[in-house]
Amino acid sequence: MKVIRAKSAGFCWGVERAIQIAREEAQGGSRRVYTDGPLIHNKQMMDALSKEDVQEVGDYQSSQDLNLQESSSKESVVVVRAHGISPQRREYLKSLGLPFRDGTCPDVGIIAGKVKSHAERGYDVVIFGDPKHPEVIGLLGYAAGRGHVVQNMEDLASLPPFSGPVAMVSQSTMFTHEFQKLTQLLSEKYPELVVFDTICGATKERQSDLVELVKEGAEAIVVIGGKHSANTRKLAKLASSHDRPTFHVETAEDIDPEALKSFRTVGVTAGASTPEFIIRSVCQFLESL
Ligand code: SF4
Repeated sequence: MKVIRAKSAGFCWGVERAIQIAREEAQGGSRRVYTDGPLIHNKQMMDALSKEDVQEVGDYQSSQDLNLQESSSKESVVVVRAHGISPQRREYLKSLGLPFRDGTCPDVGIIAGKVKSHAERGYDVVIFGDPKHPEVIGLLGYAAGRGHVVQNMEDLASLPPFSGPVAMVSQSTMFTHEFQKLTQLLSEKYPELVVFDTICGATKERQSDLVELVKEGAEAIVVIGGKHSANTRKLAKLASSHDRPTFHVETAEDIDPEALKSFRTVGVTAGASTPEFIIRSVCQFLESL
């Protein structure tokens, strides 16, 4: 089987940065690093990091108190994950009295800055994203009660009427065409709508490289990444929309050779939180079929 790998498959710079921060703080395993929820949405990478004493202690949505282990004699440090957190959560984490390091992706930080500054100036801020995703929960915290999350046209239609100025941003991992459609609709109602296309460059690159795979002749697409990873799920959805059989797998073990054996050329891409060792093993396995 011929395998075409997407150019941008795998870690984005924000994920690499968060991992580097956690590793720096772990100091080769001599310190324990607590992350508030998964540092990135990839179980295999989190398992690998746990061997360096990087431990996920918060919950997925950063809503519960951290379950810190009292037994360790090691110095401990709290690291904020790539998706970021709300200002309220930041205050809570800092109140734990442990050293604190922020691994929030700077691209998410830029969105938070736009949400905060506009909410402070009296804007209602519409956020296009998944209301249950930690990034969106963090962003809502910056809107200080003026944030409204929409996922689709129905949500947009259900927004309350706004009497003041309105701004719109996007979660970093959404589809550009959907964001454009929603901003267009909202601007018909609020012609002064201020729009920030905050879908990050890494997401856009992965989505356009996927289209290239189809153009290069991929008959089916294998998307590698965590089932919780928003950008991986989006890639899988995009691949299906191009009328290609799509297989979302976390590792090579998830591949059913029977389901793939009729394809001569398969395109492979991976979410921004998928480590290189998994991508390589999946490609090798597919080539061996
Ligand atoms: S997907 Fe984009 S926003 Fe998210 S960590 Fe990567 S670069 Fe940052």
